Amino acid sequence: MAGSARAAAAAAAVEHDRFADGAGARAKASDGVPASDGAPADGNRYSPRLTRAAAKPARFVDTRRACVAPGRPPGAEPELWTVLRLLVDTPEVVRPGWAAPRLPLVNEPVARALVVMAHPDDVDFGAAGTVATWVDEGVEVTYCLVTDGDAGGFDDTPRERMAGLRREEQTAAAASLGITDVRFLGHPDGRLYVTDEVRGDISRVIREVRPQRVLTQSPERVWERLPASHPDHLATGEATTIAVYPDARNAFAHPELLADGLEPWTVRELWLSGGPHPGHFVDITETFDRKLAALARHVSQVGHRDGIADLVRGWAVRNAEAAGMPEGRLAEAFQVVPIPY
Ligand SMILES: [Zn+2]
Repeated sequence: MAGSARAAAAAAAVEHDRFADGAGARAKASDGVPASDGAPADGNRYSPRLTRAAAKPARFVDTRRACVAPGRPPGAEPELWTVLRLLVDTPEVVRPGWAAPRLPLVNEPVARALVVMAHPDDVDFGAAGTVATWVDEGVEVTYCLVTDGDAGGFDDTPRERMAGLRREEQTAAAASLGITDVRFLGHPDGRLYVTDEVRGDISRVIREVRPQRVLTQSPERVWERLPASHPDHLATGEATTIAVYPDARNAFAHPELLADGLEPWTVRELWLSGGPHPGHFVDITETFDRKLAALARHVSQVGHRDGIADLVRGWAVRNAEAAGMPEGRLAEAFQVVPIPY
């Protein structure tokens, strides 16, 4: 990246994180998270935020200006035009693979976040630094582990003890970050598929937790780093994406949930880890030590391996470089999918 472009990208990343801080602060300051249910978006509920987001000038160096739509044409419905303009201004929507830092589209306070991962330790390898920043902002974080990781590990632990051990390790790792709500769905490790049962289980957790933000693994395979695309990761990402849209918000999907009193719920942001299109970088320099401490709790997975800290630091350095952050910074990378309506 050329020097000026790198500087611009660095400024963008900093501005981006500042925005994220602001969103978290607002979440703490206000308990009034907008009502959000399975009903279709209506103008009264969403238009003020959408309109503000569309009208606000970009606060970062934005190479997208060339594709930003011009003013509303005569006769166009204001609300419709706002949505159309946002779609044009959303690289992930119109151009998959776009990798420039940008503001989240859905500018809503985030009070609760749900992290859905295939195995114990996945969140700590890929996202614990970011999750720690959310905790610092006052976001309530829940972990949901789809399997117990009972097919993993390298030590002599008897297989029948592995599931319980890995639950304990993940629970301890979460606690080290201040997270106490950790849920295990208990599906078999290494044999996870996108079934109606898995979709329903994740949808149940979404309706129980009612998060504005869901973080999961990318359902897309990265051919350049095949081990990052474990089939369980892909299945978790796909099932969670389907649970976010449409299952959790659709009152008629998994009718047993409604029968149990779990109302539909609409998630506003989907964060994907470990995928081929990272375009959102979170500075984790200040939380990196906590990430390492959480990782160290997975003794059955990392206890036998030297150099884990260096390995993970290397990833974080490369992410920061890709984001154009100043030298010495560390970052985690995600694809963020806003769900504007
Ligand atoms: Zn995994």
